Amino acid sequence: MRVVETLPEMREASAALRAAGQRLGFVPTMGFLHAGHVHLAAVARKHAAAVAMSIFVNPLQFGPGEDFARYPRDAARDRALAASAGVDVLWMPSPEAMYPEEPRVTVDPGPMARGFEGAVRPGHFAGVLTVVLKLFAVVLPDVAVFGRKDVQQAVLVRRMAADLDLPVEVVVAPTVRESDGLALSSRNVYLDPVARRRAVALSRSLQAAVELFRSGERDGAALAAAARAVLDAEPGLATDYAACIDPATFAPAARASDACVVAVAARLGATRLIDNVVLGEGLEGDGRLAG
Ligand code: AMP
Repeated sequence: MRVVETLPEMREASAALRAAGQRLGFVPTMGFLHAGHVHLAAVARKHAAAVAMSIFVNPLQFGPGEDFARYPRDAARDRALAASAGVDVLWMPSPEAMYPEEPRVTVDPGPMARGFEGAVRPGHFAGVLTVVLKLFAVVLPDVAVFGRKDVQQAVLVRRMAADLDLPVEVVVAPTVRESDGLALSSRNVYLDPVARRRAVALSRSLQAAVELFRSGERDGAALAAAARAVLDAEPGLATDYAACIDPATFAPAARASDACVVAVAARLGATRLIDNVVLGEGLEGDGRLAG
């Protein structure tokens, strides 16, 4: 595995792979890698002969009171995990290299970024789409893989690629979960043992919505309420939202179909967790680590 830091090095590494006729897959991450990231690399490998991964904790997408400074970082461990995941080029740019000065031009993520994560985290998706566009401009991938775990982000990136005619195919891969259902996240390291047990309420809340959907309920508000009831019953957990969402518009769905997503966000102390499920697939469609 080749490890590069500067933008010119990454451009050169990417050009060399493409000159060799290789289709290039790309997995952008913020590091502190886990099995979810490893799975995205495997999905990229199915679509492309060569795989590049970036690790960059993007300051632009963190709000003033958020966890940018304490976001977990471990470059040596990430290098080893990326190599074992079959990554060909690992790009670890510095903040100074990515933002030599404060950008004056950024991506406007539009109406699909107004609700849910966008409402709770103002400016978050402008920061995400700006860095993703910059990463794409350097790597020039044929295909980029994003996790459904961050479903609003994945939908926005896909829509940015379509609306701005970016020459990249955006693939969305299923969420990888712990054996008890908790979605893997770099932020799970913040959870103490009690909070870790309570965090399973997120996937249980999604399962409640899926079961109601399977019993025939199609009212979006009723499905959202079923998920919310599980979250609200969990001590020490504060619900940010539980919603049934039309993925095409990222607005609440009045009537739920198989393609609709139930998404939840909750806080356990200072830790904010998100999760979601596609109603037609259920949690069985996701990856699950052995217990
Ligand atoms: P992050 O490093 O958290 O910014 O995530 C980088 C990419 O990995 C994003 O596309 C995420 O959606 C994806 N990802 C994060 N957690 C998971 C997971 N549990 N399963 C699958 N993909 C994930």
